[in-house]
Amino acid sequence: MVECLKCRKKFRADHLLQERAKISESEAEKLRLKELTKAIEKYDIHCPECGGTFGEPKHFLTMFKTTIGPHSGAIGYGRPEAAQGIFVEFKRLYEMAREKLPFGVMQVGHALRNEISPRQGLIRLREFTIIDLEFFFDPDEPNCFLLEDLENETLRLLLAENKLKSSEDITEVLVKEALENGYIKAEWQAVFMALAKKLLIELGVPAERQRFIEKLPWERAHYSLQSFDQEVYLERWGWVEVSGHAYRTDYDLRSHMKSSGVDMSIFKEYEKPVEKDQVFIKPVMAKLGPTFKGEGTKVAEMILKANPEEVADSLKKRGHFVIGKYKLLPEHITIDHKKVVERGKHFIPHVIEPSFGSDRLVQVALEYAYRTKGERALLSFPQDIAPIQAGVYPLVSKDGLPEKASEVYKMMLDEGFVVEYDEAGSIGRRYARADEVGVPLGITVDYETLSEKTVTIRDRDSWKQVRTRIGDLPALLRNYFRGKTSFEDLGKPFER
Ligand code: AMP
Repeated sequence: MVECLKCRKKFRADHLLQERAKISESEAEKLRLKELTKAIEKYDIHCPECGGTFGEPKHFLTMFKTTIGPHSGAIGYGRPEAAQGIFVEFKRLYEMAREKLPFGVMQVGHALRNEISPRQGLIRLREFTIIDLEFFFDPDEPNCFLLEDLENETLRLLLAENKLKSSEDITEVLVKEALENGYIKAEWQAVFMALAKKLLIELGVPAERQRFIEKLPWERAHYSLQSFDQEVYLERWGWVEVSGHAYRTDYDLRSHMKSSGVDMSIFKEYEKPVEKDQVFIKPVMAKLGPTFKGEGTKVAEMILKANPEEVADSLKKRGHFVIGKYKLLPEHITIDHKKVVERGKHFIPHVIEPSFGSDRLVQVALEYAYRTKGERALLSFPQDIAPIQAGVYPLVSKDGLPEKASEVYKMMLDEGFVVEYDEAGSIGRRYARADEVGVPLGITVDYETLSEKTVTIRDRDSWKQVRTRIGDLPALLRNYFRGKTSFEDLGKPFER
């Protein structure tokens, strides 16, 4: 954080560098306080509000601190992500998933971050909606059953190795190549990245306007073995992160287990029990006493706590085993091998986490949908995400047309479509209003409707019109909104 010495407004130093000096997010994030001071000087960055000079950058905690309930001493923090609730409840969720891996839990909820300078519309908010998916799998069975469907999707990666060379070169690879070449470590992570790319395409962002940036080791959150940020290019603000993809390993479950003492491991039964050679060790008191004198019992207790395999291995390879400050020889320990039958294994699952900010997705969809046609503004939402699917309009508000249009409107509502009725103003004004809020289709009732039982359907983007029978509307539009037919096909009679 930096504070303007003149107007006292505070800003996030790394964000200022991104905006003013066009330093990439990952570059800016890794700068230490001293380097930030230097960069602010070098790029001659002044307060965006008043032009004042900045003081020294300081650390600032972006979690909201509060007290819980009536006890002012009970300190709590607003959660900055939804993930931890899922980890804390892991055992219960695992039972609900009928004790089978892999499975995932997605939580959509509020996240609070005390952002220093919230701005850019919905991009940087202090209270936003996060979508965290924690996907649990057995690290010994890391194969993803969805890979077959997605392995030929292309991913545009900015790899850590390129970033280290200060290069922004994109490595364009198929999902399967990214895995074969070791660019992405876990199959599930690669698959979720491919799905995230497809999701953004569905929201209107072409593949070439998307990329995944690999985080360098020091940029990654402490819990992550490998992280990628999915970024989307916005005309107004450049590259913006829309989702983060982290391989959280067993870090969270293991940490909760350590702090709470609650066992977070699961037991997996093998298909067939396996017979294993197990090593048992026993201290030989008759030898420990004379060697370690008064400390013999203490050393014996230490032996009992040691890992039998490690002890046996060291005695065999090195002829001794060091425990604390004591050097043990083969005569101090007896080693037994017994056959034991193992029915399964205890382990802590690994986690892949895709995490989206839903507000950013809305902002991105709006930015990509917005276009102008002459003087007019349109929101060209993909048809399946448009909040209102169709408008129903009488051509004029007389001669029985409003009544007929109301009938069509009610029928469409009954058929489960999201439709709006509008009879205010000229038909041109009504089309323009609908285009502005992104309604893909306009259904107009005119004089021919009364005699022929047909209506016109108007396309928001091309302004073309086709004529169709009222009776065919529900089936035709259902197919259209599912992406099965083109607009032109709406003009052809629906074939049952
Ligand atoms: P992170 O845990 O920082 O990777 O955040 C996960 C996702 O939440 C990001 O990819 C963004 O889409 C979104 N996000 C993060 N911070 C904010 C914010 N201040 N306002 C809105 N969305 C945010």
